[in-house]
Amino acid sequence: MATTSTPRRTKIIFTLGPASQSEEMLEKLILAGADVARLNMAHGNHDWTRAVIRRIRAVSQKVGREIAIMMDIKGPEIRTGDVAAPIELKVGEIFDFTVKPGDRESSEEIRSVNVNYQDLVNDIHIGDIVLVDSGLMRFEVLDKKDNHIRCKVLTPGALSSRRHINLPGVKVNLPSFTEKDRLDTLVGIDEGIDFVALSFVREAKDIVQLRAFLKEHKSHAKIIAKIEDQTAIANLDAIIKETDSLMVARGDLGIECPLEDLPVIQRRAVKSCLQHGKPVIIATHTLESMITSPVPTRAEITDVANAVYEKADCVMLSGETTVGKYPLECVQTLDKIARRIEQEGPFEVPDPKSIAGDKIKVLKSAVLLANQVEDSALLTFTRLGNMAGGLAALRPAKAKIFAMTNTLETLRQLRLMRSVEPFLLPLESDPNLSIEKAMELLSREGHVKTGDKLIVATDILTSDHLVDSVQLRTIR
Ligand code: PGA
Ligand code: MN
Repeated sequence: MATTSTPRRTKIIFTLGPASQSEEMLEKLILAGADVARLNMAHGNHDWTRAVIRRIRAVSQKVGREIAIMMDIKGPEIRTGDVAAPIELKVGEIFDFTVKPGDRESSEEIRSVNVNYQDLVNDIHIGDIVLVDSGLMRFEVLDKKDNHIRCKVLTPGALSSRRHINLPGVKVNLPSFTEKDRLDTLVGIDEGIDFVALSFVREAKDIVQLRAFLKEHKSHAKIIAKIEDQTAIANLDAIIKETDSLMVARGDLGIECPLEDLPVIQRRAVKSCLQHGKPVIIATHTLESMITSPVPTRAEITDVANAVYEKADCVMLSGETTVGKYPLECVQTLDKIARRIEQEGPFEVPDPKSIAGDKIKVLKSAVLLANQVEDSALLTFTRLGNMAGGLAALRPAKAKIFAMTNTLETLRQLRLMRSVEPFLLPLESDPNLSIEKAMELLSREGHVKTGDKLIVATDILTSDHLVDSVQLRTIR
């Protein structure tokens, strides 16, 4: 059970798959403190998507802890098609990637796989490198024909269905929001997802386009921009300015960019997100070895710790919880590392640019007060999540942020934000009454006890005026 004594501020995202999607496992993961479930649309079909979303909602309700659901749409991601059985490839073997299946000369002895990128043949050059399965297998392009490219295997491996392809340095001209993304997102909207993560975001206008689509379909889902290649890094600040939050997608970044740049990119992205007051997620290979091992490597422990030291909002699990043997242990491990590292000294955080004018001053004074009053917690009321988001962006040193909201939608979206513990509470027109009710709720559920201090930052729309205040209250 997520304990109340030492609150964890860093949030945990896990990806759904065979290892985590059963009702029993979902219940365990939610109770262990997982905050967001991610659906990777490179894999699931629509029936699976609907079923699994409904299951998460049902389990959340059963255990009394609502988590958020992120639909990760694939954007301009290139993948191989289905193969009946894994194709074992040896060094030096000649192999074709086709854009139209079954369209090669009938005499071909050469094995092949289909690719979902019609312009592959035009956009690639002889001598280019094709990386398959997250960089595990390498091919060199020897020749191009109308409907396929002919390659030589440089690094061998077994090629199974729907493997991810990277073409470092190739300007891929796929649309940022594909027809598949449209259809996937519509299902997600219909099922009430909380976040849409857009893969391979290349520029700010990719976000603008998705935002327009969400608006057109009356979705309030927040956007997570996944930065995965060199173009995204070149446009990083503009992307962060436009998006609701960011994912440092280290899997693809580590293939598309020089490996040694990865830590530099991560640090820069987190810092820039802090400057803009936008939540940031560190993703991929977080506890990779735990796919098969019950304990992480020492390097993984330190990597997760680094993300927490950097004050990222979330750390994310992928293969660890989709196909891994130890999904629960992974969540518990992240939980343990985060709690420990969060106790280490605070550092200076820039004023987030996302909150303007007097608001930032009010929030800052609340956080300042919370930092100075031993063992205090922040309490705020937030219809759309902005107040809680502002406090989270200021990264209080120790205080947890209790955020009361009147909608489930906002509650779930607050799961993404560092330090925020969201609660559902009907908001009264009299702010004082809301405060009383919130304190009552927190006491009743054991989050605070008599004598605890609460720093209350309120911004409540009453019937005829707006109340802006910072108060110090003691639980009686
Ligand atoms: P993916 O994104 O798991 O959808 O590829 C994350 C990453 O690339 O790191
Ligand atoms: Mn990726």
